[in-house]
Amino acid sequence: MIAENLKQVEENICAACKRVGRNRDEVTLVAVSKTKPVEMIQEAMAEGMVTFGENRVQELMDKLEKIKEPLQWHLIGHLQRNKVKYIIGHVCLIHSVDSFRLAEQINQESEKKQIKTDILLEINIADEDSKFGLKKEHEMPVLKQLAVLPYLRVRGLMTVAPFVENAEENRKHFQNMKKLMVDINQKNINNVYMDILSMGMTGDYEVAIEEGATIVRVGTGIFGEREKKLQY
Ligand SMILES: *Cc1c(COP(=O)(O)O)cnc(C)c1O
Repeated sequence: MIAENLKQVEENICAACKRVGRNRDEVTLVAVSKTKPVEMIQEAMAEGMVTFGENRVQELMDKLEKIKEPLQWHLIGHLQRNKVKYIIGHVCLIHSVDSFRLAEQINQESEKKQIKTDILLEINIADEDSKFGLKKEHEMPVLKQLAVLPYLRVRGLMTVAPFVENAEENRKHFQNMKKLMVDINQKNINNVYMDILSMGMTGDYEVAIEEGATIVRVGTGIFGEREKKLQY
């Protein structure tokens, strides 16, 4: 099942790229394995997948212990400051930074290990009360503050778009994310050049790719429905 799903997702990604004249290699597929057992991750690995996304620190650490092969782990879910110390050095990208205080903590823990950590700023692009992420208008001040933290690299923006029946409804949000990133880059803030746009999930990743996503995060489309419908 996972092999077939991966093949299907891959085909869809290729088709979306082709529709808008992008190269397939501009888009990274993150297989979101949250709530799914290690065996399923290994099945995906057998198909060549090396990039996985988890949203909870404890679950990520458990899986890291069981899987010895070097993989690219992405932390995609809300992150508490007291958990930061566990993941630094183990994840290649943190998608969900939404405050200066969290960024500061990541910087501090990265300094202890003498490494730089790549992060994305999470944007609440549709202004939903239920969602984590910075509102569009709060983005710039935070960005300016954390651009000077020496052990961070702000690589781009991430969003979780609204849950919609028809993916087309999210197109405008993806367009706004792209615009926001272009705007930020044009401001020439010291230390800030963004090239990663993490947007699009099972329901809408093709539209996201058409609008410029460089990372799509697909869970259900690869591993099947989750038991508990986690909001996040
Ligand atoms: C769960 C999750 C996904 C994947 O969702 P699917 O709809 O199953 O593809 C993507 N991004 C984040 C932040 C998630 O928490």
